[in-house]
Amino acid sequence: MTSFDLDFDREHLWHPYSSMTSPGTVYPVSSAAGVRLRLEYDDREVEVVDAMSSWWCAIHGYGVPALDQAARDQLGKMSHVMFGGLTHEPAVKLAQQLVDRAPAGLDKVFFADSGSVSLEVAMKMAWQAHALRRTRFFTIRGGYHGDTFSPMSVTDPDGGMHSMYAGFLPQHVFADRPPAVGEPLEDWKAATSRLYEQHASEIAAVVIEPVLQGAGGMHVYDPSAVQHLVSLAREHGALVIFDEIATGFWRTGTDWAASRCHVTPDILCVGKALTGGYLTLAAVLTTAEVAAAVDASPAGAMMHGPTFMANPLACAIASASLDLLDSYDCFATINRISKGLADGLAPAGDLPVVREVRTLGAVGVIELDRPADVPALTRAALDRGVWVRPFRNLVYTMPPYVCTDEDLGVITGALVGAVTEVCA
Ligand SMILES: *Cc1c(COP(=O)(O)O)cnc(C)c1O
Repeated sequence: MTSFDLDFDREHLWHPYSSMTSPGTVYPVSSAAGVRLRLEYDDREVEVVDAMSSWWCAIHGYGVPALDQAARDQLGKMSHVMFGGLTHEPAVKLAQQLVDRAPAGLDKVFFADSGSVSLEVAMKMAWQAHALRRTRFFTIRGGYHGDTFSPMSVTDPDGGMHSMYAGFLPQHVFADRPPAVGEPLEDWKAATSRLYEQHASEIAAVVIEPVLQGAGGMHVYDPSAVQHLVSLAREHGALVIFDEIATGFWRTGTDWAASRCHVTPDILCVGKALTGGYLTLAAVLTTAEVAAAVDASPAGAMMHGPTFMANPLACAIASASLDLLDSYDCFATINRISKGLADGLAPAGDLPVVREVRTLGAVGVIELDRPADVPALTRAALDRGVWVRPFRNLVYTMPPYVCTDEDLGVITGALVGAVTEVCA
């Protein structure tokens, strides 16, 4: 049983978006292997399938031999060294791999230490590339781009957690969230064009999560809406930033969500699954043109440089993770998962509390008609052998790619069962 002091956790540790004075329940995890977490609940140690991939990162599961080996090999050389004035093989190798995989032309790489920081860097690139003559960003409602200030300023202005900063953040321009797949787009396109044109000369870049908005509401929208936003930017001399921190590395069923839209951004942010969930690392990729424009700005260089930039340990593990992705047939794997999720979650569609069930690639969502009772749903899913963390009115899964059909059955059965038990 727990060998550490859970009371200390409760009294001294913040967890994500948590209260210090009345913290929620946290379950102690002792280890993880394959797709399972070993955690304690109700004074029992249980192994449960991780339906969240640790917030969408652990695509290969846990205790992955190739990633463990890469970590050990790199630890034998060096864990970290500064990147100012020095360089190393793990960074160069990973950058080569990313350039090879990224949409053509995105061949300049900036390593950042988290997804949020990569958005900070991408947005600074856009500002510098316009020499700060254009300072506003154009985006869509319902997005999520991170918790530091610049990404927060383009995250959904009304979507709960950042709204209290509304008067204090830079005011960017928000078009309505594009309609869901299958709904008509014409009115949205016309309104978005009108809004864009009112601000065109101030807009440095359009910044969006293409096709799938993640933490902003798991909204799936049409590639042609992405294309429309891109064409507005291009027409008016703005850059295009794609935040593929959630959608990259096959999560939506194609290598990038950008591929599904047949468009290439000027700046691409990747993170989350980049290290297979082992360590924090993100990257910003851009074109030679943007890099040249950044250098032509008064600063004469890209003005950002985190202490842990291109951390060798993280880069080495990320390289091994990308090699591992090459060893799967990702297209077939994600299709298999997609089908498993669609079939397994379908029965939830018949429940009166369920507004919609949707899947895209290895993402499955049950949208409720009311806020989710997170503690109750979490427990009900644990009772069924699954770790899940709903938010707002969304009970969703982004499983590891190594889930078997049986694991997928356990996940979908637990989600449907938990929603039935708690909400019906
Ligand atoms: C998670 C996420 C971020 C923020 O990444 P962190 O590593 O948590 O800072 C940004 N954009 C998207 C789309 C994300 O899903």
